[in-house]
Amino acid sequence: MKAYLIDGVGKSRVGVIAVPEPDAGELLIRVMVTGLCGTDAHIFKGEYFGEYPIVPGHEFSGIVEKTGPGVKHFHKGDRVSADPNIFCDNCPECKANNHNFCTDFNAAGVTLNGAMAAYMLIPEKCAFPIGDISFTHAALIEPLACVVHGQNLLAPKLANRTLIIGAGPIGLMHLQVSKMNGAAFVAVSDVKTGRLDVAKSLGADEVIPAPEVSDYVRRHGGFDIVIDSTGVPSVVQSALAYVKSAGTLLVFGVCPNDSAITVNPYEIFKRELTIMGSFALRKTFGQAIRLVEGGRIALDPLIGRRAALDEMPGLMADFAAGRTHMKTVVYPNGLE
Ligand SMILES: [Zn+2]
Ligand SMILES: [Zn+2]
Repeated sequence: MKAYLIDGVGKSRVGVIAVPEPDAGELLIRVMVTGLCGTDAHIFKGEYFGEYPIVPGHEFSGIVEKTGPGVKHFHKGDRVSADPNIFCDNCPECKANNHNFCTDFNAAGVTLNGAMAAYMLIPEKCAFPIGDISFTHAALIEPLACVVHGQNLLAPKLANRTLIIGAGPIGLMHLQVSKMNGAAFVAVSDVKTGRLDVAKSLGADEVIPAPEVSDYVRRHGGFDIVIDSTGVPSVVQSALAYVKSAGTLLVFGVCPNDSAITVNPYEIFKRELTIMGSFALRKTFGQAIRLVEGGRIALDPLIGRRAALDEMPGLMADFAAGRTHMKTVVYPNGLE
């Protein structure tokens, strides 16, 4: 079968590998749609965990092609998406319901071959039926489930004022979830003004070009909640100044794993600031499916290029260099 492989730092290609065989409890999925994510770019740039060669792709939807021995709840032909994170359910973190810190953790598209291929394997315990949700929308359930996890951690207070930095697909999901999660006012900032137009159309109360944020905060005061969805360390560092006293900075975007920022501990102390992280998702896939099923999240404005698998090497180079607009979706078995 055809697969997109990352062979090493900055090296990728489309090649042919064997169709995997489902083991006990596993599903073989015919991949219909795969979303390209910042994490894939980090893997491409060597800024993430996992080993090469790897077939990336952890945001996907598809059809069950074959079931391994012992599979109970799925059958050939079922339309599915899946939580790509495969937890051991046996380590102290899993036993404490902190599955995303599993010490014996694997993830499709990160440590195991993922969805940038015609077929992939996923354990039955990770798979979810998607009902009538389109395959393209279903490929965006995983990032939405990560956003839901972050929002669950934030547990925002009613009538808060939120600033979202970065108006890519993740920032625009946070915008929509923040609004239904009790925010009285949501501002969005980005360096790309085209993205701010999309934010405005999705209900942002204010859009602020990135260079003007500190001036805006000086004039209007800080925010109860600031969400970084850029993953740019210098942006995270400056974001702390936009948080109101007793407020929270959510570090959501994935910064390079060896990056560093400078914070003033006196400021954290004196202003009672909270710096909160949010990693992947934790049993929030079902919540994300219900939001999409219920039509509560506009996903079409978040989708950019619709591409074939063969285009991936060029697309990855463009994406890693920040030259793509919104979520690129790939169709490993042809356009839907
Ligand atoms: Zn992702
Ligand atoms: Zn575990």
